[in-house]
This record gives sequence, C-alpha cells and structure tokens, in this order.
Amino acid sequence: MNLALDQQLNTSLQELSLHQQVLNSLGAYIFMKDLNYRYTYVNDLVAQLFRLPPKNIIGHKDDDFFFLEHCDQLAINDRKVVEQGVTIEEEEVNVIKETGEKRYYWTVKKPLYDQHGTIIGLSGISTDITMQRLAQIQLDEKQQLLTTVLENAEASIYMKDKDCRFRFINKNTADIFGTTQEAAVGKLICEFMPPETAASLNILDQQLLKTGEKVSGEEKVILNSGEVKYYWSTKVPIKDSSGKVKSFIGFSNDITELSYLKKDYEYKAATDDLTQLANRREFMRVINEEFKRACRTKLSLGLIFFDIDFFKRINDKYGHAIGDKVLIELAKCCTSHVRSSDLVARLGGEEFAVLLPGNTLEQTKAAANKLREQLEAMRVLAPDGQHISITISAGVTMVDLDGESVEKPLIEVDKALYQAKNSGRNRIIII
Ligand code: GH3
Ligand code: MG
Ligand code: MG
Repeated sequence: MNLALDQQLNTSLQELSLHQQVLNSLGAYIFMKDLNYRYTYVNDLVAQLFRLPPKNIIGHKDDDFFFLEHCDQLAINDRKVVEQGVTIEEEEVNVIKETGEKRYYWTVKKPLYDQHGTIIGLSGISTDITMQRLAQIQLDEKQQLLTTVLENAEASIYMKDKDCRFRFINKNTADIFGTTQEAAVGKLICEFMPPETAASLNILDQQLLKTGEKVSGEEKVILNSGEVKYYWSTKVPIKDSSGKVKSFIGFSNDITELSYLKKDYEYKAATDDLTQLANRREFMRVINEEFKRACRTKLSLGLIFFDIDFFKRINDKYGHAIGDKVLIELAKCCTSHVRSSDLVARLGGEEFAVLLPGNTLEQTKAAANKLREQLEAMRVLAPDGQHISITISAGVTMVDLDGESVEKPLIEVDKALYQAKNSGRNRIIII
C-alpha cells in the first residue's frame, strides 16, 4: 500500500518536474498572481528578469519589481482580469527597477478559478517583443521622415515603374498635374500633360531605362494652361537582384526663374549692347564651332570682314549719338540681307564680320557685294534733316578646312580688309 503511494507520489513529482521544464523552456514569461496581485508562481525567465530567485518573488507585488508609474497599464490589466473575469491580450510596457530597462511584451492574462468557478487570481504569459517593437519604432520614424520630406519638399518627387507608369507622386507633383496622389498611380505622364510635353519628359526616362544609369538634365514643361516651366531633373534607377531596372525615382526642381536668368545672361554675354548683333566673343565661339563642323561635313565656310569708311567724320559732324544710330541701322540692314544661317557680328567699334557656312567663294563674294551695295544705299536721317550715307571696305576669304585652326583665315581676311582700305575704300578684296 505504502509502496503504491510512493510510486504514485514519484510519478506525480516526475510529472510536476516535466511541467516545470516545459514552462521554463517556452521562452516566455509565465506567472500567476492571487487576488491581491501577489505572485504565486513565476517561471525561471521571470526570476532571471527580476534577478531574484523565485522564492524572493513569490508573495510580492509588481511594484517591488517595476516602476509602475511608467507602466500603469500592467496594474490596470491585472485588475480587469481579476475584477471583470476577462481575458486580456495586448502589448504591455515594463520598466524594470533592477536595471531601469524598458521592455515591450505581448501579454495574455486570464482569470484563474477554483473548483466552484470563483476567481482566485490570474495567470499570465508574456513574450518579449522589444526587438520587434524597437525595429517598428525605427521603421515608423523613417516612414515619418520620408513622408515629411516628400510632402514638404519644393521639388516634384515621383516613382515610375519600368513602363513609365507612376507608382507614386508627391503632393507637389499632384498639384502640377491637377490630380490627386492616389489617382496618378498606374497612369502615364501623357494622361496629365499635353502630348509634346509628355514626349519631351519621356526623353530622360528612356535614357535611364536604356543605360540603367542615373540621369540628369533640364526638362521643359508646357502646362495645360500654356505656362512654360523649366525643371532640373535627376532620375535614379532601382534595380532588382539581377541588375535589371524595375523602377526609378525622379526629383524635378523648378528652375524656371533661374533658367530665364541664365538665358538672359547667356544672351547678354554673347550680344553687343548697341546693335544687338553677336559680339566678338560669340563670333569666335561660332567660327570655331563652324570650323569643326565644316571639317566634318566638308561644306565650305565663307568669311567677310568689313569696316565703315571714314566713320570718324560722321561722329565729328553729327555727334556720337548719331554715329550710334548709324551703327544700329547698319546692323538691321545687314541682318535683313543675309541668310538666317549666316552670322553677322560686331567685332568692335565700326568693324564687323559675317560668317557664311556652306557658301562657296563666289557666293561669299556675291554676299559681300550685296552688303556693300545695300549699305551704300542706306540712309540715316540726321537731326538737321540731312540723310547720312556710308560706304564700307571689305575683305573676303574662305576658311581653309585643311588648316589647323581659324587663326590663319582671320589674319588673311583682316589683311584683305586693310588692302581694301589702302586701295581706295568702298570695295571688296578677296584673298
Ligand atoms: P577708315 O575709313 O580708315 O576706317 O576711317 P575711320 O574714321 O572709320 O576709322 P577709325 O578707326 O580711325 O575711326 C573709327 C571711329 O569709330 C573712331 C571712333 O570714334 C568711332 N567709334 C568706334 N566705336 C563707336 C561707337 O560705338 N559709337 C560711335 N558713335 N562711334 C564709334
Ligand atoms: Mg572705319
Ligand atoms: Mg575701324
């Protein structure tokens, strides 16, 4: 009889030990509390958390172990379970007194009943989710940062898939398109912009898709209202693991004002103030460019230099302002008698140059004669009612495409002009 009891006791102890092993190996904090919220059971993990043996925890309340003022939800939940008999499943935050550490748990708390169905306490199981929670907090912060940047940036920011369909546009872009951020998803640019603009906005996209590289450039946008805007856009590819572009993100900054200022500056830097003709710097830029082009295309390049004869006399007789008026009228006359592909430039003072791409020597000579005749026929009204007339002397040459640079033809044409002056003026000398 005693032997059977012993055996039963042994089996029960074995079972108990097994249960305890299970409770300790679950990787969760398991505990029980009585109606006064004193611990009646804690598993090893809870003991480790409080850095105390279980016997020093049993009979104590949470305020011995946690800063409850920082985690009052703990006590509120306990009360709910015990007083209302409900099961609580939610996140709890603990601040441990021993270490001051803040940890996050997913906790399930249930009431404990005696054999009569009366609540005698609660049981709880908590899983530490601190890592996941902190990762989530970091992710939320990053998301917040991203949203703040996207929604407050002055730039248009958008994401397109490899078929150039929008996957995201920020608020700024939606405003420009006259749509909402949600409505733009899956759509193409041509659904918001006039066809020409849509086509020009596709150029950088296609370049990115073709090269798989980041691209940057100016984009011109004619809005539906007709307003013209310039953007500086940078588009960055996003690739899949095999290196194929799967989407790209674009940033477009409105540089309309800057663009007009730049164009204005470029125009001023290239233009003579008085006559609005190209200035010497612009002439040198164009002749060097045309020289390179002519060397490639083997199309000839004609060059005329001319200078007003006895211009000083006009200044002396009528004053500088009338001299200026003559220069302005001369510029107009020249521009209206050359082809649009020719360049008339004021090299300085009353000295001018004409560059005639594609002209043969005969054509250049003819053009120079025509200018000489037209300018001779030109009349500028003086304040005294007189009509001022001028003549010019000109040098003509062809830019030698076998030469190394334009230096020699420029010296030669200048020589020709000098000869025209020295041999009686109002004439053309060809070299
Ligand atoms: P030539 O037939 O030898 O060329 O005689 P010229 O009097 O035209 O030549 P010169 O080079 O001696 O004089 C050019 C004059 O052009 C001198 C200068 O006062 C005048 N001039 C230069 N730039 C301007 C300008 O911007 N406005 C006016 N009104 N006169 C200018
Ligand atoms: Mg002169
Ligand atoms: Mg001169």
